[in-house]
Amino acid sequence: MPRAPLLGCIADDFTGATDLASQLVSAGMRVVQTIGVPDGPLDAECDAVVVSLKSRTVPAAEAVGQSLAALEWLRRQGCGRFFFKYCSTFDSTPTGNIGPVADALMDALGADFTLAVPSLPANRRTVYNGYLFAGDVLLNESGMQDHPLTPMRDAFLPRVLAPQTRRRVGLVSHHALADGAAGVRARIAELKREGVGIAVCDTLGHDDLVRIARGSADLTLLTGGSGLGLTIPATLPGFEPRSDAAHLDPVGGHALVVAGSCSRATLAQIEHAGTRMPAMAVDIEALFHDADDHVDALVAFAAGHLGDGPVLIHASMAPERLRAVQSRFGTAASGEAVERALAAVARRLVDDRGVRRILVAGGETSGAVVGALGVSGLRIGPAIDPGVPWTQSVGTAAPLALALKSGNFGGADIMTRAFELLP
Ligand code: ADP
Repeated sequence: MPRAPLLGCIADDFTGATDLASQLVSAGMRVVQTIGVPDGPLDAECDAVVVSLKSRTVPAAEAVGQSLAALEWLRRQGCGRFFFKYCSTFDSTPTGNIGPVADALMDALGADFTLAVPSLPANRRTVYNGYLFAGDVLLNESGMQDHPLTPMRDAFLPRVLAPQTRRRVGLVSHHALADGAAGVRARIAELKREGVGIAVCDTLGHDDLVRIARGSADLTLLTGGSGLGLTIPATLPGFEPRSDAAHLDPVGGHALVVAGSCSRATLAQIEHAGTRMPAMAVDIEALFHDADDHVDALVAFAAGHLGDGPVLIHASMAPERLRAVQSRFGTAASGEAVERALAAVARRLVDDRGVRRILVAGGETSGAVVGALGVSGLRIGPAIDPGVPWTQSVGTAAPLALALKSGNFGGADIMTRAFELLP
């Protein structure tokens, strides 16, 4: 009987889940990420499981339902400690979903207290006196104030969280952290006496994440960004870091890059890759004229070059061109058409042309591609760049090496360097 995972995580989006999983691997855990809540039991041995949901921007009741289903499944796999992962920019609205999901998970677990620790110091997301900073600026001056779905117009997190939760909200400030884990424990005891149920935690750097994890080791549930993924593992009873945590069996076969992200980092990566590998762009007009025909053309192009190394198929466009496409064909319709086409290209190249190693750029695009490939889970391997690990598919006919990156993640050379890292 394999040992039950020590830690069960619930992530509110797909690439965020991968980011967390990658941090847990760095801390020596063997990690499997599932795509949605699996129907059956986990059939892979690991130290931590991350269930990736799409619950960040759905109505709060739906996010709660998905998260409780994930919790129930994780408990059935034997997990005893839990982590609810959301974005390090605390992406949410006054009606949710961070507060309602935290409330529901606490109720289900009978937990009377938890922490909110969004910080990710490695990406310069820090919290000071309850105010969240992205780099040098407050969250509400970082560009996040204009986010289309979750505009963040207030950087003071206790005030952001309060309308989202039934519980009283408090703060574990840097004063408490200065006294180490004992300071955190003392502050938690004090907040509990005051009737606080959930407290935002200051974090200036990695050392604070160590203190927070140690000082909260007896809480059944923690919530936060991926940063805490580096420091929770060492606090789990019976956990020994594994030197082979990131080991994946080698996967041979052709290599493909699929990009559907229009984020700045991805555009730079495409520019870099475009001079180093055969590349073909999706023609939106052709796609709307005859999608099957255009997918055939993309597949034929890729198939003709696969023998020479990675091939790039992308739809990414700079903002002005993208806006023109969106106003002509509709934002949702063009986005979905592109996702469907890229997913179909990946699927056909895997099924018929021996592609086995794929890097996908874009969170939604990654979701569409893994859906089309029938991937039910990912074993997490070594990081290519922070938050972007190589993974191996679970549930596909042949094992696939997959790197799924959020649009803004990764260095300029990731599309070529990723494949050089594979054996
Ligand atoms: P990111 O991680 O950068 O947010 P996503 O893949 O999540 O990337 O989102 C990008 C969205 O933009 C996808 O829905 C994708 O289909 C869409 N998209 C990409 N290129 C185009 C394009 N040329 N025209 C219209 N929509 C596009």
